[in-house]
Amino acid sequence: YLSRLRLTEPQLNSFIHVSDSVLKSAQEIDDKIAKGGGEALGPLAGVMVGVKDNICTADMPSTGGSRILENYRPPFDATAVKRLKEKGGIVVGKTNLDEFGMGSTTEGSGFQVTANPWDLGRVPGGSSGGSASAVSARQCVVSLGSDTGGSVRQPASFCGVVGLKPTYGRVSRFGLMAYASSLDVIGCLGTSVADVGIFLNAISGHDKFDATSSKQINFQEVPDFESLFTSINLLESKPLSGLKVGLIRETLDDGVDSGVKSAINAAVLHMQELGCIVNEVSLPSFSLGLPAYYILASSESSSNLSRYDGVRYGKQTVSDELNALYANSRASGFGPEVKMRILMGTYALSAGYYDAYYKRAQQVRTLIRESFKTALETNDILISPAAPSVAYKMKLKSFFMSLGFFASLVQVNVNLAGLPALVVPCGFVEGGSSGLPVGLQMIGAAFHEVLHSNISSQFC
Ligand code: GLN
Repeated sequence: YLSRLRLTEPQLNSFIHVSDSVLKSAQEIDDKIAKGGGEALGPLAGVMVGVKDNICTADMPSTGGSRILENYRPPFDATAVKRLKEKGGIVVGKTNLDEFGMGSTTEGSGFQVTANPWDLGRVPGGSSGGSASAVSARQCVVSLGSDTGGSVRQPASFCGVVGLKPTYGRVSRFGLMAYASSLDVIGCLGTSVADVGIFLNAISGHDKFDATSSKQINFQEVPDFESLFTSINLLESKPLSGLKVGLIRETLDDGVDSGVKSAINAAVLHMQELGCIVNEVSLPSFSLGLPAYYILASSESSSNLSRYDGVRYGKQTVSDELNALYANSRASGFGPEVKMRILMGTYALSAGYYDAYYKRAQQVRTLIRESFKTALETNDILISPAAPSVAYKMKLKSFFMSLGFFASLVQVNVNLAGLPALVVPCGFVEGGSSGLPVGLQMIGAAFHEVLHSNISSQFC
């Protein structure tokens, strides 16, 4: 992995920082094995992990993709990082992202632009673009991302890898730089569902440092993926017989590329061959999710990002007067997208506008949550495209604002409802040198990352 990283990183720029102690950590594991003595190795022993740079690591810089945190080194590891290290994982470096997770291309990083391994002229998606590109190019085995409104799933789709947004509360947010706290989750990317499952299991669970982390324990056991896959004859035995799948009608409307629609239709046929019962479902409030998301995410971010004042963290622009110190540090430290979100959020929360924007958005959120709940009473999972298109060409920023905002619709509703969603590659459309990947999104009921029903033993 390290030699692939060295070979491909000059073209990809997936990492903001690469650790200089990877070989040493790997050697320590080798030594343990050589010494014998029966000491148990963790489930991630020797596994190279990329960590999104808005997740704190004590021994490496953690910038959130922002110049305001350039050279910032947190004094602690995020709980997810601590857990993956305890299980033997080796953090290979910190991956690039749109500044503080705000964006969908990773071009919004304050440091560098990451390329999509399938076509170097295209973006890897975002905001966890570095994490997706790194896994896709096999620079590491798995990676951590964060998903506030699609930032694990859309880059997974654009880079042709598996991406999981867990249920809100499944993984501790302690040490994740807050963007919108009621929507943020840490998620996993990998090249197979099995890898992502094992990885999720390693980092999940309650944490006393995050009061919103759940005490639910139904994801304690990792299914035995290997024997599961080898014991099922996928085509003959209809292993998914009876699984009820709802295809969300509103996600296949006009704005979706025809190539994406064909890939999704082919995936539906394949699922039917495997025994699934696929029906269209309608979620009438679906389109309202987009404005509600941007009001809520901007509002929460305007509050969360007020901590970057030039005093407590990172960059400081020296000034004689305190207000000028705050203003100048922020003016030079934050990029344009972040400034816009803070302005939008501050406006939406201001006296006189609260009821019109924030309160209404919260009401819409309740409607969306209810409509998912109803749909998941009659369906085991819901499916949709992971994104309405394949990866965009770079430097489309001028029209990206409208395009990017619209394109998040299929993802943001899942965050508003706090549900788990898995993206798997399901086909290609023409483009690049060998096609551009399309992702299928599967949404489950809360805490049903693994289905626990009568078909669950055969389905994961
Ligand atoms: N496009 C979304 C946004 O900019 C992605 C956010 C995320 O999941 N971090 O808000």
